[in-house]
Amino acid sequence: MEIISVIPRGYCQGVVRAIQTARRTAQDNPGVKVTMLGMIVHNRYVVDACRQLGIRFVEDKTRTRLELLDQVDEGIVIFTAHGVCDAVRRKAEQKGLTVVDATCQDVIRTHTIVREHVKNGDVIYIGKKNHPEAEGTTGISDRIHLVTCPEDVRRYPGLENVLITNQTTLSIIEIQDIIRACLEMYPDAVISKEICNATRVRQEAVLALKDCDLLIVVGDSASNNSRQLALTGKQSGIPQSVLIDSALDLKEDMIRNKNRIAVTSGSSTPNELTSQVIDTLQHYADTGEFILPDSVSCRLL
Ligand code: SF4
Repeated sequence: MEIISVIPRGYCQGVVRAIQTARRTAQDNPGVKVTMLGMIVHNRYVVDACRQLGIRFVEDKTRTRLELLDQVDEGIVIFTAHGVCDAVRRKAEQKGLTVVDATCQDVIRTHTIVREHVKNGDVIYIGKKNHPEAEGTTGISDRIHLVTCPEDVRRYPGLENVLITNQTTLSIIEIQDIIRACLEMYPDAVISKEICNATRVRQEAVLALKDCDLLIVVGDSASNNSRQLALTGKQSGIPQSVLIDSALDLKEDMIRNKNRIAVTSGSSTPNELTSQVIDTLQHYADTGEFILPDSVSCRLL
């Protein structure tokens, strides 16, 4: 059995910056209530490590960032790497909160593009419903229209001077069908593809894999970029592609009789978690013994 460690994988620069910002904020402000508006990144191990620094989280998938702010009444509020719309920023300031913004530069770039475009036209924004990045971007203007699948675009007839853009963590394959459907309705639309470099190179590395029986993606099921990596594995023809939280989710049945197993991870997954998976697989490949670690945990960076 051969274990392929896919490169690049794991933390992206946006996630590293968000974690560093959170840690610095907590350490520089002892005694001040520090609240993260949503999950810093979609990985529970990272969230748990932040909690140990004293950072409080407000999170509820059924509530918008604007609604979640009702649960923050004092101290510092940190906006996550996914970004927020202007209304959230205004409300935080009106409440007298100190704002620390950990929005990723790639998301800020998309915000700048759409903010400029809505002055003279409409934006079709391809993204995931209820995802915080999509919420933050579409909340910038009511001229930004969320499209989640090719059929969705029919909901928006009569748009003017259309720009098509997208959430940064989508699948480079999946997005093509949706763009095609948008262009059938708006052939003159301008396209600004905004899948971030980190997401793209991780997916391309999976697409370049040859003759693998199994792709294991280490990542949280709430992480869109991790889910998209697993999907990319399926689309690239790998017979089996699974998303697991950590080495504890490995099963001997999953890996028995496989010749080549590739391992990658989403950009919000700590490298320690991926290393544990690779070590467990390598030990099995070398000795035939399937031994899971007793526990998993991670340092922030
Ligand atoms: S996945 Fe891309 S957009 Fe998201 S934090 Fe990382 S670099 Fe930024």
